[in-house]
Amino acid sequence: MDIFLPEYAGVCVGVKRAINLAHKTAEAATGPVFILHEIVHNTHVVKDLSDRGVLSVDEVREVDSGTLLISAHGVSPAVIADARARNLEVVDTTCPLVSKIHRIVKTLAAKDYMIFLLGEKNHDEVMGVQGVAEENIHIFHRKEEIESLPLTDGPVALVSQTTQSIKYFDEILCLLQERYPQLEIHNTICDATEKRQTSALAIAGDMDVMITVGSMSSANSRRLQEVSAGLCPASYLVDSASEVEVGWFSGGERVGVTAGASTPEWLIEGVILKLMEISRAKGFEPTVTRNESAEEEFIETH
Ligand code: SF4
Repeated sequence: MDIFLPEYAGVCVGVKRAINLAHKTAEAATGPVFILHEIVHNTHVVKDLSDRGVLSVDEVREVDSGTLLISAHGVSPAVIADARARNLEVVDTTCPLVSKIHRIVKTLAAKDYMIFLLGEKNHDEVMGVQGVAEENIHIFHRKEEIESLPLTDGPVALVSQTTQSIKYFDEILCLLQERYPQLEIHNTICDATEKRQTSALAIAGDMDVMITVGSMSSANSRRLQEVSAGLCPASYLVDSASEVEVGWFSGGERVGVTAGASTPEWLIEGVILKLMEISRAKGFEPTVTRNESAEEEFIETH
C-alpha cells in the first residue's frame, strides 16, 4: 500500500490556539472550569479536555461560579455578556478569523445592510455570528433557499461560515448577484479550510481510496470528505483508526489520508499506522509519502 499525505491536513492554527488556551486555563484554575459546547468539533479532543477536569455545559445558566471557556467557534455577544453578569471568568478561545466575521457583520449592521450568511443554521459558529446582528442577518445554505430571501433595493452583503467550500461560495455568489446587483461580497471562508480542500483535491484523483480523519460533528471534515469523493469515489470519513475497515483494501492501493482542521496530529498518525498494519497483513510493504507544508499563521486573505 502506498500512503500519501497532502500538503495541508489536520489541525489548523485556530484550533491549536483554542486547545492550548483551554489546557493552560485548566492547569492554572483554582476553581471549576466549564466549556460551553465543544471546544472544537472533535470527539477525542473533547474527551481529553473532560479528562483534564473541564466540565461541558450547554447553557451559561448551568454555571454559577468559576471559569467559562468559549469555544473556537465563538458565541453571540449576548452569551458573553450573560457570563460576565454572572461574575464568571470568561476565557474566549474564539478563532481570530471567526472574530473577524463578527466585526464585519457588526460594521455592516451599523450601516443598515441586509446580510446574507451562507452557512449551516445550527452550527455554533453560525449561531454566534447571527447573534451579532439578529435583525439584519438571513442565514441560508441551499441554492433553492435564495428565491425566498427578501428583495430589497437597499445595501446587501454576503458573508460565509468559515468552513464553506470556495467553489460553492462562488456558485452562490453568481446566483445572488443576479437577484441583488448591488451585492457587497465578503469572502470569509478560512484560508485553512481552503488549503486543506485544495491539497486533498491535488492528490485525490490519483488515489484508489481517500480517508478523511475527523468527527462527523466537524463541518470542515465532512466537507473535505465530500470534495475528495468528487475525484475518488472510495472516500471515507473516520473519527479515528478504529473506524478504518480492513474490507476497504486489498493491500496494494494508493491511499490518500487527509484530515479536518479540528483533527489533532496523533489521530492522523494512528490512521497511518493502522493502514500500514493492514497493508503488511495483506502481504504488501507500505510506503508513506508526506508532502511538507509551510508553517501556518493567521493571514487575512480576503
Ligand atoms: S478552520 Fe479556520 S476559522 Fe476555523 S478555527 Fe481553524 S483557522 Fe479558525
